[in-house]
Amino acid sequence: IFITIEGPDGAGKTSVLQEVLPQLKEMTRREIVATREPGGIPIAEEIREVILHPKNTAMDERTEALLFAASRRQHLVEKIIPALNRGAIVIADRFVDSSLAYQGAGRGLGMDEIAQINLFATEGITPDLTIYLDVDSETGLSRIANSRMNEVNRLDLDAMSFHQRVRHGYLKLLELYPERIKKVDARLSLPFVIEQVMELLVDEFPT
Ligand code: C5P
Ligand code: MG
Repeated sequence: IFITIEGPDGAGKTSVLQEVLPQLKEMTRREIVATREPGGIPIAEEIREVILHPKNTAMDERTEALLFAASRRQHLVEKIIPALNRGAIVIADRFVDSSLAYQGAGRGLGMDEIAQINLFATEGITPDLTIYLDVDSETGLSRIANSRMNEVNRLDLDAMSFHQRVRHGYLKLLELYPERIKKVDARLSLPFVIEQVMELLVDEFPT
């Protein structure tokens, strides 16, 4: 079973996963592999470093999109596919939907175009369930401002309009794939968000 968690900056993916993973581990005897792109895979890490390195601010947006897809490919091949093949439950913090929302909608490259390069990268491997933490841009950005002011941010994500485009991208995906993507209102307080995420996961979970 392949589960992903998605959302714009400041939605709280990291905090939610921190609380949810130990609870999930109690619920099942199956192996759980929690991962996030680039997943500690050296090749994927190196590609990610090229994307985010401050000296590369002149990077073309399509180059960025291709590198995200390349990094994702390596993470998929080295970590996700082997885990799924041995029957593990994989829970990934971000996957293709992030690129559709950030590079497709946020950067304006087009969600269809980004879907194409990611189809090549993933050979069509798609999550069984995606939990989308939805947060409005004011709330999301103010959470980042409060909690990780120093985060290196060459992508200029503090731009309100970029954040809004990313969120609209996610909402579009939610419309397109209502069976796969389940929305949780992430403006709520953390315990309440966690409770809703757990409810969605329990439905999907083998014990
Ligand atoms: O996963 P996390 O939220 O830590 O993402 C790290 C940074 O990379 C974030 O600022 C996010 O906006 C950015 N990002 C991106 N395009 C992606 C995935 C992440 O711009 N496809
Ligand atoms: Mg995070």
